[in-house]
Amino acid sequence: MRGTAARQNPHRVVVFMKVYDTIAAISTPRGKGGIAVIRISGADTAAVLAQIFLPRGKSPTDNPRRACFGDICTPAGEVIDEGLVTYFAAPASFTGEDVAEISCHGGVLLTEAVLGAVLAAGARPAEAGEFTARAMMNGKMGLSSAEALGALLDAGNKGQLALARGGMEGKLADATREIYERLSAILSDIYAKVDFPDEDLNSMSTEELRAALAQVKAKTEALAATWQCGRAVSEGIETVICGPVNAGKSTLYNAIVGYDAAIVTDIAGTTRDIISETVSLGNVTLRLSDTAGLRDTEDAVEQIGVARADAAIDRAELVLAVLDGSLEPDERVVAFLERLKRACGTVVIVLNKQDRDTLFPTALLADFSHVVTVSAREGEISALSELVSALYTADIDLRHDAVVANARQFAALIRAVQALDAAIAALDAGVPLDASCVDAELAMSAVGEVDGRAVGEDIVADIFSHFCVGK
Ligand code: GDP
Repeated sequence: MRGTAARQNPHRVVVFMKVYDTIAAISTPRGKGGIAVIRISGADTAAVLAQIFLPRGKSPTDNPRRACFGDICTPAGEVIDEGLVTYFAAPASFTGEDVAEISCHGGVLLTEAVLGAVLAAGARPAEAGEFTARAMMNGKMGLSSAEALGALLDAGNKGQLALARGGMEGKLADATREIYERLSAILSDIYAKVDFPDEDLNSMSTEELRAALAQVKAKTEALAATWQCGRAVSEGIETVICGPVNAGKSTLYNAIVGYDAAIVTDIAGTTRDIISETVSLGNVTLRLSDTAGLRDTEDAVEQIGVARADAAIDRAELVLAVLDGSLEPDERVVAFLERLKRACGTVVIVLNKQDRDTLFPTALLADFSHVVTVSAREGEISALSELVSALYTADIDLRHDAVVANARQFAALIRAVQALDAAIAALDAGVPLDASCVDAELAMSAVGEVDGRAVGEDIVADIFSHFCVGK
């Protein structure tokens, strides 16, 4: 197993850590808790256990995958705690190596003492993400699944959870593998033609080849386009709340954020600078900013705030334009609506204060495709949440579709599309087939990068450095 781990790995990932020693870490969060789990992985796991665990019944190494009760002690024989040990023999474990999980009581010092005993018995402290990195190197999962596992632990809303679960189950890996294998088949066809030009190999004509490449390109582009949704869920959309003074912008900001982050008063001009936060709204993530109310003002500081708010509208991908629905619009509101028509991002008109009688003539909003009514003060913002979720995730089932979940995956797919473009252009220009081969190979390796085929060592190391120790 050990010597051949890299060779057996179907994902052909560059080995970047010292693989063959035995590692250990506390896998549960630090702090006081009912139980804590210390995980060990590596060929010496059984030898480590033999020094620090005295079973009171069955031995865990003789009974893999069964929790065995006993005393946990130092290698010198001093009992630290009692607990359960579950042993997983390679390759049927999370990492693919021999693994043990020690469940002990969850005190901070106690857990540290158990880990100390494990280290004294010959394991070394695991680095961040090292268990998952080993799982990947041993062919237990591809890079995109490993990334999804990291995202699963960080998930802050249901959308992120669904996206990460789908990724872990290999939805994206399957989609990229399909493209990879198709390209591989096309390439072998081209090579056959190049190598044996005089043979009748029943291979594709140039037109068929072009059509096949165009089809792969369309598939790759469609997959890359899911990043629009994946990004909205995982990274967040640059969003600005704007509108006239006293429309309820700060109240809406607080309702979305979930606590009183912005000051709410009847006094116009209380929000004078931009405040920002990353928050969840429905299935999506917003990088949300509240801005100063747009109005003419003599106050120099407020004037700067108003100018910044205006600039923020131009930068935003999503503009939540708050209007007081209980008021007749004055000319400032009309001017604001005109200003919104020049916004680059998607504009959602949020007609606030629906708990009062509506005096705002909706005919004035005929030019806007997205209008919702809310009561920010009552926390009644479900219409907004549903609309924003639908804007970014409507056509995609986050849990079951292949969705690009991070910028690295997206960049790799875009490089593949560009290479396929070049391959098709070479065919169109009538240059020898070898030229298309080079580009198609580039496309193949770029697609392969999504799931970790031939990804640079530094990139993989960077991905796992964002994991916690013990994962
Ligand atoms: P901003 O200047 O646009 O940020 O407005 P604020 O959030 O400071 O709110 C201005 C006033 O409108 C405050 O007195 C809020 O309590 C009130 N307000 C905000 N949202 C609502 C709402 O949904 N219904 C009602 N009736 N009042 C609201």
